[in-house]
Amino acid sequence: MPLSNRRTLTQYLIEQRRRFPQASGELNALLLDVATACKAIARSVAFGALGDPAVQQIAQAGSVNVQGEVQKPLDVISHEIFVRTTEWSGNLAGQASEEAEQVRQIPPGYARGKYLLAFDPLDGSSNIDVNVSVGSIFSILRAPGPDRDCTEADFLQPGTQQVAAGYAIYGPSTMLVLTVGDGVVGFTLDPNLGDFKLTHPEIRVPADTQEFAINTSNKRFWEPPIQRYVDECLAGKSGVRGKDFNMRWIASLVAEAHRILMRGGVFMYPRDTKDPAKPGRLRLLYEANPIGFVVEQAGGRASTGRQAVLGVTPSSLHQRIGLVFGSRHEVERIERYHQELVPSEAPAPLFAPRSLFRN
Ligand code: MN
Ligand code: MN
Repeated sequence: MPLSNRRTLTQYLIEQRRRFPQASGELNALLLDVATACKAIARSVAFGALGDPAVQQIAQAGSVNVQGEVQKPLDVISHEIFVRTTEWSGNLAGQASEEAEQVRQIPPGYARGKYLLAFDPLDGSSNIDVNVSVGSIFSILRAPGPDRDCTEADFLQPGTQQVAAGYAIYGPSTMLVLTVGDGVVGFTLDPNLGDFKLTHPEIRVPADTQEFAINTSNKRFWEPPIQRYVDECLAGKSGVRGKDFNMRWIASLVAEAHRILMRGGVFMYPRDTKDPAKPGRLRLLYEANPIGFVVEQAGGRASTGRQAVLGVTPSSLHQRIGLVFGSRHEVERIERYHQELVPSEAPAPLFAPRSLFRN
């Protein structure tokens, strides 16, 4: 007997399965394991400066993750929690983590399953010290070869192939936001019962917005289409957009995505010229694809600036990519600016005014 009218995550998944008889029980079980991992990470993060006693045991001083950033203990514990909570139940054929260089096999002794799980166990971890929201991001793919060891190549599927994706955000409340390809739903963790309860049954990103998010300190490295877009936002009412914009920047992808899912906006971490070795900052498999899937399922758009991010075939496990997502009309505008000649580069005056007024 449910204690309130709000459905739990378990109830929601069971009801979804009744609606879609082809949906697999294994996927539901896997999603519940992921939710358990997120609850455990939420608890660990909540210890803050006190330090989770469990973290103290696992912390390895001085270890460095694949991307060369100094790994904080909570990154390590979150990775361990994700691995351990999802490997045992016979639903996975392999795992890939932002915190591990190689794909991870399901240990001998556990059954293999038909799905692959890619995850960023603790996104925005540099925000931990200042007590700003962090999160976890996950992406579920079908395993091409469920009966053998998984390979890196198995994970290199375009984002359109995702079976499910989502994130947990550890903010003032803990939330789980999820898509199984049928819209986007949000659950809030009831701290008394430890259950995720359905609080946001149909999340939609409004098509228009007056809010953008970008790290302006990189302005000198931006490509012309992004320069143009941001300049036009900054010009506000007096410029070609004819309306004022607000700017936000949390520097935590999950927190930015969540704000945009709740009230619209556009987020940009575009490809830039800062470091030729890094064409973009965010990781395609662990960040851009799952967030892109959620945003598109909510009616928004996710793009590299040049093409739909979900259409990109990954070339490596830790590939980085430019990412622009959020309110559809703004993302489409940014894509259009990439396709068009920018006014300053236009060979003939004809192009500039036309591109400004076209919608
Ligand atoms: Mn991250
Ligand atoms: Mn991370």
